[in-house]
Amino acid sequence: MSAQLGITTEGLVVEAAGADFTMKPIELVDMNDDEVLVEMKYSGICHTDILLQHGLLPPVDFPAIFGHEGAGTVLKVGAAAAKHDPALRPGASVLLSFNTCGRCCECVANRPSFCHVHVQANAGCVRLRDGSTPARLAEASATPVLSQCFGQSSFLRTSVVAMRSVVVVPDALLADCTLDSGESILAAYAPLGCGFQTGAGTVLNVLRPTPADSVVIFGMGSVGLAALMAAANTGVRQLIAVDIVADKLLLARDFGATHMVNSRDVADVPAEVRRISDGGVTYAIDCTGIIPIIESLFACLAPGGTAASVGVPPPGKKVQIDALSFLMENKRFIGVIEGCSVPQTFIPQLIKLHRDGRFPVDKLIKVYSVRDFKLALADLRSGKVVKPVIKWD
Ligand SMILES: [Zn+2]
Ligand SMILES: [Zn+2]
Repeated sequence: MSAQLGITTEGLVVEAAGADFTMKPIELVDMNDDEVLVEMKYSGICHTDILLQHGLLPPVDFPAIFGHEGAGTVLKVGAAAAKHDPALRPGASVLLSFNTCGRCCECVANRPSFCHVHVQANAGCVRLRDGSTPARLAEASATPVLSQCFGQSSFLRTSVVAMRSVVVVPDALLADCTLDSGESILAAYAPLGCGFQTGAGTVLNVLRPTPADSVVIFGMGSVGLAALMAAANTGVRQLIAVDIVADKLLLARDFGATHMVNSRDVADVPAEVRRISDGGVTYAIDCTGIIPIIESLFACLAPGGTAASVGVPPPGKKVQIDALSFLMENKRFIGVIEGCSVPQTFIPQLIKLHRDGRFPVDKLIKVYSVRDFKLALADLRSGKVVKPVIKWD
């Protein structure tokens, strides 16, 4: 069942592949009973938004509104959504995460990151059920604009969100906690829905290292640093950070890296990792999505080691593996999407870790007014900021 909405709001529209993000008035025409109307407070910007902007994650189409790390307040709850999660009530604080179909065998078994239609449910940017979208360009004869990116399109001030993308944050987890800048703690929690949970979940949900293990992480962006913070919590013997930016390696040291390798200065990074780890690491994680770096993971591993591909590579690319050494050394290569998380349980766990001082993600963010979106995007691209978060002020 759907209800008419008739709400006017505004969002950062991308008109065509490669076009800029431009703020435009938007009409929200309808809302289904398995959806939730959310007023955005903060939205994280993720590298995947840039891939989507350039049409590099099929099946995305245009015009579209992206954004898939939202934090906000519930305005309205559809009847099926209220049944799905009784904590979903108007006024509730929510974080937004990835979307799933809720019907395939993996969704039914509560393994949402394995959803059989993951790509369509998130990069499709339309409703899974019928391919529709609730948003219209207010100034262009009501042209439909895709607004279901990851079921949410958090670059929209008020958005119709798929109920499976929503994570309710209990008030008790938000009490007495503001950032030094005076911003709500929701600013630091908005990226939990994608970047932070992807890094932390890879370590805590999938690899699960022990103190006997060693880990190398390539790429000290928000995903890599979240993975590093999570790994530091497991007490691993060695935690090696690799990046090309010296400042990011210093950050990594602050968050528990035992060794830092600047791949600009070191000719053979895998050899250096093997030297540090006395023959290779147990786990090698790529958070860059760069193919030669993914291929370099295998040479970093000790026999029996696992390489994890976490950063999003460009579409259609192949990774080469030396099949014989892979077999002889019992190596494994896995892909991990969204940290294999069940967001509704994993994100509250990460918030508790943050509140215990063991997952200091607030140190990774910088808040920008939504009017400074272009600056925030430029600072992300240049590496000046680890995780820009826009504020819907
Ligand atoms: Zn599914
Ligand atoms: Zn993302």
